[in-house]
Amino acid sequence: MNLHFNKNIERIEATPEAYNVHLTNGEVLEVDVVLAATGRKANIKDLGLEALGLDLNEQGKIPVNERFETAIPSVLALGDLIAGPELTPVALAEAHATC
Ligand SMILES: Cc1cc2nc3c(=O)[nH]c(=O)nc-3n(C[C@H](O)[C@H](O)[C@H](O)COP(=O)(O)OP(=O)(O)OC[C@H]3O[C@@H](n4cnc5c(N)ncnc54)[C@H](O)[C@@H]3O)c2cc1C
Repeated sequence: MNLHFNKNIERIEATPEAYNVHLTNGEVLEVDVVLAATGRKANIKDLGLEALGLDLNEQGKIPVNERFETAIPSVLALGDLIAGPELTPVALAEAHATC
């Protein structure tokens, strides 16, 4: 298995012997199986946090304490907006913990 990070697929060409995976950088990979995993980032920029006076950390996430309170304690943040795995069960568990 070969991992190729930060590369995008332009098209996949099927031949009788293999798949030719054409990357946007011009590379062509000849493989028998392809698994493409999409990266993503939380849509955090336009939430208006600056107006509240909430700063993001270096990773672009909202800093919170163990009770998911931000620098403004009446404002909680959780899920993809804070540090940690960006997964549904994590966001759900964090939401339940704040109830
Ligand atoms: C393609 C894809 C596949 C994924 N697959 C998996 C998987 O297999 N397993 C897994 O565990 N996780 C998966 N995830 C991650 C999972 O979806 C997220 O980690 C989880 O949904 C985060 O929950 P959240 O409540 O933080 O954000 P979200 O579920 O994104 O909820 C945020 C909500 O806020 C709303 N919103 C945004 N801006 C505003 C605004 N200005 N005003 C009001 N509402 C607003 C949005 O419409 C949305 O409803 C996947 C994500 C993607 C994109």
